[in-house]
Amino acid sequence: MGQVYSGQCHCGAVKFEVNTDLQPVVRCNCSLCRRKGALMHRTEQENFTLLKGAENLGCYQFHTHKAEHYFCKTCGIYTHHRPRMNPALVGVNVGCLDGVDSALLPDAELIDGASFD
Ligand SMILES: [Zn+2]
Repeated sequence: MGQVYSGQCHCGAVKFEVNTDLQPVVRCNCSLCRRKGALMHRTEQENFTLLKGAENLGCYQFHTHKAEHYFCKTCGIYTHHRPRMNPALVGVNVGCLDGVDSALLPDAELIDGASFD
């Protein structure tokens, strides 16, 4: 069933909540994600609530321009994205979640985003 995790960017301008069991945690090797190096978790759009900072979000798009990669315009931190392969999902940056120690999470699954680049 999951629990509610609070998340925020580094400066706190952007805050969100996500209701999830946080499994699985994934990494992606596409040209963007390998630069970000973020641990991510994907869940249904309805489990994600942006609480604050919509106006402070930048959206980066590349290649097919279907995926939407959001980041805080102030601190630059990637908070969440809408994946190209499944726009019904939202991917969140696990590193933005309060109280989650990524070192204690099970090994991340690899998404082979490079093959879709
Ligand atoms: Zn910020």
